[in-house]
Amino acid sequence: MPGNLQTDPVLNWDKCDTVLLDMDGTILDLSFDNYFWRELVPRCLARRHGHGHERARDELFALYAGKQGTLDWYCLDYWTEALELDLRALKAASSQRIRWLPGAREFLHALAGSGRRLVLVTNAHGETLQIKRGVAGLDRFFERCVSSHEFGHAKEHAEFWPQLHSHLDFDPAATLFVDDSLPVLAAAATFGIAHVVGVRRPDTRQPPAALDGHTTVHGIGELQAGLAAKD
Ligand SMILES: [Mg+2]
Repeated sequence: MPGNLQTDPVLNWDKCDTVLLDMDGTILDLSFDNYFWRELVPRCLARRHGHGHERARDELFALYAGKQGTLDWYCLDYWTEALELDLRALKAASSQRIRWLPGAREFLHALAGSGRRLVLVTNAHGETLQIKRGVAGLDRFFERCVSSHEFGHAKEHAEFWPQLHSHLDFDPAATLFVDDSLPVLAAAATFGIAHVVGVRRPDTRQPPAALDGHTTVHGIGELQAGLAAKD
């Protein structure tokens, strides 16, 4: 963990009055999304086309790669049409697999109790957000939940951040943003969010990732150190 001393708080909470949090891979286990898109959808396509699982997966992953970093990549409508699969029904049917990341719910309880403004900022499609919001009970913690689909640009893109800023009206110098995606962290830092933190273990079934160039934590619960009520 270069640069971070585990015994010291990762950030100075006195300087943060607004907290913007990503959803998938930051507070909810990305294992659900990886299962859904990388296991379940290829299996459904293999069955539909009478192909082997491997062939269906390779073809699908090539389609995913062509859309990475764009809103389409996150868009249920786009993939429902492109794959001719009822992804909404599939997602609802597998929603029992949606899980909190370790320590995330406890952190949100502490954060909500500290008097800071708390907003969820996700690239997830509005309908996916609705399902997860309900399953995890996210409305208990967040003032509001924003999907980048509302703005027409994914969080990876420079155009997203000024739009979010005028929509929410926050002070970037007193804002913490946490996400598990390197391009998203970079875009937030470039916009001027003062406290940008990366999550290195977004999927509990996968080994941790490296997020070079940013302050990082293994899991979001590590940020709870030093968190006290706001003055
Ligand atoms: Mg994420």
